[in-house]
Amino acid sequence: MRENMNEKCAVVGIFGHEEASKLAYFSLHALQHRGQEAAGISSADGHKVHTIKDRGLVMKVFNEENLKTLQGSAAVGHTRYSTAGDDSILDAQPVFARYDLGEMAIVHNGNLTNAEEVRNGLIEKGAIFQTFMDTENLIHLIAKSTKDKLLDRIIDAVERIEGAFSLVFLSRTKMFAMRDRHGFRPLSLGRLPNGGYIVASETCAFDLVGATFIRDVEPGELIVFEEGKAPQSIKVFEATPKHCIFEYVYFARPDSSVFGQSVYETRKNMGKELARIEPVEADLVIPVPDGGVPAAIGYAQESGIPYEMGIMRNHYIGRTFIEPTQEMRDLKVKMKLSPMTDIIKGKRVIVVDDSIVRGTTSKRIIRMLKEAGASEVHMRISSPPTTDPCYYGVDTPDKDKLIASNMSTKEICEFIEADSLAYLDEASLLRSVNATDESYCTACFTGKYIV
Ligand code: AMP
Repeated sequence: MRENMNEKCAVVGIFGHEEASKLAYFSLHALQHRGQEAAGISSADGHKVHTIKDRGLVMKVFNEENLKTLQGSAAVGHTRYSTAGDDSILDAQPVFARYDLGEMAIVHNGNLTNAEEVRNGLIEKGAIFQTFMDTENLIHLIAKSTKDKLLDRIIDAVERIEGAFSLVFLSRTKMFAMRDRHGFRPLSLGRLPNGGYIVASETCAFDLVGATFIRDVEPGELIVFEEGKAPQSIKVFEATPKHCIFEYVYFARPDSSVFGQSVYETRKNMGKELARIEPVEADLVIPVPDGGVPAAIGYAQESGIPYEMGIMRNHYIGRTFIEPTQEMRDLKVKMKLSPMTDIIKGKRVIVVDDSIVRGTTSKRIIRMLKEAGASEVHMRISSPPTTDPCYYGVDTPDKDKLIASNMSTKEICEFIEADSLAYLDEASLLRSVNATDESYCTACFTGKYIV
């Protein structure tokens, strides 16, 4: 069975707005960076749940015509990012089902760690699965629950699943938002200008639709949205926060606030910390766009070394990580990033990026900068070495493909052909995100898994 099907996705839910699907559509645009593989929206008009989903970007999947068919005052949406090979449209979300209580759509960001066990148990009892998605487990668990009300069935179902889940459920008349007890993945609650509600993976979606941030959905909390009533909060699990620190490092958009803090500010802090602990003499600080930008600004501010745009990014090419084969990845890096020769020629440059995964990107960039005439290239990474895969929803390759799990920093430096290489350490990373306690998951840097 293929796993990790809902990693690094975005979810959104709109409740109490006559153009709910349009607002979901705009929100998905703001959340496109969390997944470019597929997009989908389900709306509920009180009688029926309507769904449109397909492979590709939000802009490709939706148009004025098909959005009109998504009627109703509630809608949920999803953008999917997942590993290569799953080209079935069935694997796109929302997951939709008809069952004894009516119709339901689910969107999910995260990764269920006991998915296979639950799935096998369901199959033994006769369930038939249409997709490889762990989210489909939820449909079956809800359908099979003996409780009378959907709310109780959802609680029944989420009590059986483990791992990372930020979920939004849509029935014909209600919407439910739920976050796992550790709050691995973000999910925020906001108010629409007309008084309706929005929940979304990141607050950058709120800004686009004019919503105001209320608060995060708490870890372990389920919020029920019902017409004519204030949202009802139910504490399903005791909260034991383990927020994904990689959201701050790489994944979330800088204009979002996740886990209660500005992503931009925390990234800039990481760059400042890096300048303090890993200084080097140079003429310029340049970012690897776009991920490295805020940390490079922080590094430049703290070190006093001028910040320049030394690499140009072509925004019309997707993320390099998506491509399955090594050969294609190399080509895509070239297509995506080009050197600003006049800026870097003859200069000692510090290149700041947020992370090194396989090492391909850094190697290419350094070669490119040297070819463009840089006299020295010092690589600075605003997070610790990525040594371990993620089981909670970030798409990282297996351990054997993570360069830092197989090589020392010195060896990586030689491999990427840098004049020097240095990373942020774990303590400095935690300081950058103002983490005063154990409330962050750092497993991708430490191998310390919680679930
Ligand atoms: P690599 O060439 O495999 O070392 O990739 C490193 C680049 O990928 C860095 O520029 C990161 O910003 C970016 N990156 C890190 N983690 C991820 C991820 N999970 N998905 C996509 N890109 C990533």
